[in-house]
Amino acid sequence: MSFIQPSNELNIMTINKKLLILLLITSIVIILSAFNVFNINVTKTQISSKNSIQNEVSAAFIENDGPYLFVNKNELTATGYWVCKGEVKKDIFPLKSFPKTLNYCGLSAEIVSADVKENNTIEYSGDFKIAAVSDFHGQYSLMKSLLQNNKIIDQQGNWSFADGHFVITGDVFDRGDKVTEILWFLYKLEHQALQAGGQLHLLLGNHEVMILNGDLRYLNPKYTEVAKRLNMPFEQLFSKNSILGNWLRSKPVLVKLNNNLFAHGGFHPSLAKDNHSLEAVNSTFKANLIKAELDSPRKGWGKFLHKSNGPIWYRGYFKAGDEGASSEEIDLLLKHFDINHIIVGHTSQKQIETRYQGRVIAIDSSIKKGEYGEILFIESAKNKDDVMWRGSLDGKKLSLN
Ligand code: ZN
Repeated sequence: MSFIQPSNELNIMTINKKLLILLLITSIVIILSAFNVFNINVTKTQISSKNSIQNEVSAAFIENDGPYLFVNKNELTATGYWVCKGEVKKDIFPLKSFPKTLNYCGLSAEIVSADVKENNTIEYSGDFKIAAVSDFHGQYSLMKSLLQNNKIIDQQGNWSFADGHFVITGDVFDRGDKVTEILWFLYKLEHQALQAGGQLHLLLGNHEVMILNGDLRYLNPKYTEVAKRLNMPFEQLFSKNSILGNWLRSKPVLVKLNNNLFAHGGFHPSLAKDNHSLEAVNSTFKANLIKAELDSPRKGWGKFLHKSNGPIWYRGYFKAGDEGASSEEIDLLLKHFDINHIIVGHTSQKQIETRYQGRVIAIDSSIKKGEYGEILFIESAKNKDDVMWRGSLDGKKLSLN
């Protein structure tokens, strides 16, 4: 009884000391046994074979991606990198072996040439059909269904739009996980279109320009891991000496086809008010494309073209009030650029829609969600009214309102 006498301070201290020692011993025992268990586990893993460790790693990342092809001008070779089931593969090709089709781990890329020629033509006129679509954002299979069902490509994925002009108003990159597949697909299709007397116009969107500038905020986690495995910053996979990077650098920010002017975001009214030509918009935008490749920072109008009112970011056709373009300003733009329609992506809608009584057409039909998408068709000729309709995902002809 006296053992737990509350009045006995000495006794309490003794108890506390005993408890402390007990606690200390228990902790040491726990730590030691934890170490033991850990050691045994490591030994077991080592014994159970190296393969099981490798399997654990690749089970976490078994994606395929590539090729990323880099031209080594001095050696007259190109080095290709793939990630196959999470593992890096590398191969070297003599440049003289191009054109060449590369097939690795289910990824196909038809390399036309190690060189990319910049096409500086941004205006076309004549009698031709136009198809326009926007913002694929890595949705490769949805894109293929949309193009197949609307007969831009055949069942094998080859060009079947004859001498038509097919416009993609940017944003192939980011969000989705099949960006490389889309890039190589469009790269091949562009070549096939030319051979058939048609044209494929891939325009730069803000996501192309973001990636080229190393802004990776919207990158799918797959590509973060791919870059890690290839031991390169992601933007370096599209560097100047890479075939796709060079190809992207050759793309314009706008194209005019008869009475129709296309860009990713749109044309700010100041471009008309300040009397800028399409040629000047495109060449100044391109001259300021990649910050890291410029001699001095972007400034003046070149900087303006890369900011929120520039052709890849502008949203003024979808905003009310001061931030939006007025009906008069749209008329001014149409008159200045000698066109009837401005056609843009970037600002997502449920389907292809018109604004300003059809003078502006919004073609970002939210393909990025991976569920649905539409394609705009225009029966086009220089001095005639355009006939337009929407192609649905399953290839139905729908009216444009
Ligand atoms: Zn965009």
